[in-house]
Amino acid sequence: MTAPAKFARWIVHVDMDAYYASIEQRDRPALRGRPVVVGGSPFSRAVVCAASYEARRFGVRSAMPCAQARRLCPDLVFVAPDFQRYSAEAQRIRALFAEVSERVEPLSLDEAHLDISTAVARGTHPAELAAGLRERIRSVTGLIASAGIAPNKFLAKAASDRAKPDGLLLVGPGEVSAFVSSLPITAIPGIGPVTARRCHDLGLVGAVDLLRLDAIELQAHFGSAGAWFAACARGEDDRPVIAEHERKSVGIEDTFASDLTDPAQLRERLHELAAGLARRLAAAGVRGRTLTLKVKYHDFIRTGRSRTFPEPLGDAGTLELAAIELLRDTAAGRVPIRLLGLSCSHLDRLGAVQQTLF
Ligand SMILES: [Mg+2]
Repeated sequence: MTAPAKFARWIVHVDMDAYYASIEQRDRPALRGRPVVVGGSPFSRAVVCAASYEARRFGVRSAMPCAQARRLCPDLVFVAPDFQRYSAEAQRIRALFAEVSERVEPLSLDEAHLDISTAVARGTHPAELAAGLRERIRSVTGLIASAGIAPNKFLAKAASDRAKPDGLLLVGPGEVSAFVSSLPITAIPGIGPVTARRCHDLGLVGAVDLLRLDAIELQAHFGSAGAWFAACARGEDDRPVIAEHERKSVGIEDTFASDLTDPAQLRERLHELAAGLARRLAAAGVRGRTLTLKVKYHDFIRTGRSRTFPEPLGDAGTLELAAIELLRDTAAGRVPIRLLGLSCSHLDRLGAVQQTLF
C-alpha cells in the first residue's frame, strides 16, 4: 500500500458488531448461529437492547419492544442483559485501543474514536493499523469489530456503519465528497428521528441535500445546529478526539417530537434523561460534582442552569432530584420547551472497585 496523502488528522471509529449479543453467543455455545436478543421478557414492556445478526435477518432491531421481536421471529432466544460482564469486556477492548493510540474517546461500551494521526505521520498506513487492531480484538476477545477510517470523526463513524458487519472501510482524500453523497441525512450527528422528520418534510433526504439551503434558511430551520449540519454535508468536522482522561463533561439531551409545557410530561422526560446520564457516567467510569440543565424553548432561545455539589453525583435518583430543582428556575411550564439536556462536569474518576458495581 502506498502512503496516503497527508491529512491534519486520521481518525478510526471502531464499533463492535452486535456487542451484547455476540458476548452471549461467545460465552454460551448453544446460542451460536441462533437468533438471540439481549433484553427483557417478551411478555413485558421491555425493549431489545441488542440483537444478533441471525435475529436481524427477521427484522429484529435494537429499541424494538421485545413482544414485537418475538412476533417477527418466534424462535428468538431472549437473554437477560449482564452489564457488569459487558463493562468488564469493554475495559479489555479499551486496553487494546490504548496499544495503537494514546488518544481514545469511548462513545459507549462498544464504540470509540481513536486519533491515529501520530502513527500515520510516522509512516504507518491507517488501513494496516486498523486491520491489525481488528485482528487483535478478534484474537484476544473472540469478538468482531468493524472499523471506519477517515479524516474526521463524522466520516469515520459513517464509514464504520457502512463497513458492518465484519468490515473495514477507509475514506481517503479523494473519496470524501463521493462518500458524503452516498450518506442519508440521518448519518449526520445531531439529526435524530425528530429532526430527520423535519428534514424529510423539507424534501431533504440525503446528507448533501442540506447544501441546497443557504445560511439564513439553515438558521431558520435548525437554529444554531444548522451551520454544523451543513459543515457535515461538506464532509467537514473539526471536533478533536478527546481522550477519557481529558474529558470535561458527560451529557445527554433529547429533542421532543412536540414542544412540551405540561410539568408532568417535563418531569417524565427529566426522569429518562437522569437515567440515561447515570448510565453514561457509569460507562465512562466517572461521577460529576456540577450538574447543568440545558433548556431550548420553542423559539430556539436557549438557557442553562447549573449547580455544584459538595459530593459528586452519579446515581439516577439523585441526578433527577437535582435536575427538577434546576428546572424550577426556568420558564418551564410557561414557555413551551423543545429540548432538555443534562450534563455533569467537574468529573471524579471512580475507583476500579466502584466501577465493577455498574
Ligand atoms: Mg456496536
